[in-house]
Amino acid sequence: MKKTAIAVAMSLLSGFAHAGDGHAWSYSGETGPENWAQLTPEYGACAGSNQSPIDLTGFIDAELEPIDFHYENGGAEILNNGHTVQINVHPGDTITVDGIEFELKQFHFHVPSENLIHGESFPMEGHLVHADEDGNLAVVAVMVTEGEANEALARAWAQMPEEGETLALTSDISPLGILPADRDYYRFNGSLTTPPCTEGVRWLVLKQPITASQEQIDQFLAAIDDHHNNRPVQPVNARPVLQ
Ligand SMILES: [Zn+2]
Repeated sequence: MKKTAIAVAMSLLSGFAHAGDGHAWSYSGETGPENWAQLTPEYGACAGSNQSPIDLTGFIDAELEPIDFHYENGGAEILNNGHTVQINVHPGDTITVDGIEFELKQFHFHVPSENLIHGESFPMEGHLVHADEDGNLAVVAVMVTEGEANEALARAWAQMPEEGETLALTSDISPLGILPADRDYYRFNGSLTTPPCTEGVRWLVLKQPITASQEQIDQFLAAIDDHHNNRPVQPVNARPVLQ
């Protein structure tokens, strides 16, 4: 189990979760989300009962501990894997959740948002993907509304890679640049939102959105061939959503 989790974490780090295994997936048609679980046994978890994204609603009040952010290093390279545009970060940026340290591996985006809040979709959603030393995953999700341009995104996307391209970042991109000032969050148990849809992921969805300009959102979409890259929401089933 741990080995699987570590393998997933490594493929997340590389950004080519589908490369090498020959099981192409997509966001529409025969290889789209409805069929992910059938594409290969490795994607069987996509039919699981604790999948992401979800419509966050019916919240249960809980004393959620603040997430301890220790982001000091930032982006190393930017890549476009055809599914998203992703920034891989230098080692050493961490969060502490449940007394466990999770290291930031990468962050990437979805247009429109994957998770909904009270049924509301957002123009874009950022995912900051972390793994602990055993390969357990924690994702911090940041909703993005249309408004003022985001400076960190502007610097990163000045080097927008084409599909299949990975570029060394030439300016400092701190993940702090895509965090809102208020880090209150919702929490639920979910999965990766892309194959292999591995479950057991701690989802921490920040309540306060950040902004990006319409031009920035359009620039992202153009980079992934103008297709939306949001998996539809999945059944919540028995899971509590904490606030
Ligand atoms: Zn994501």
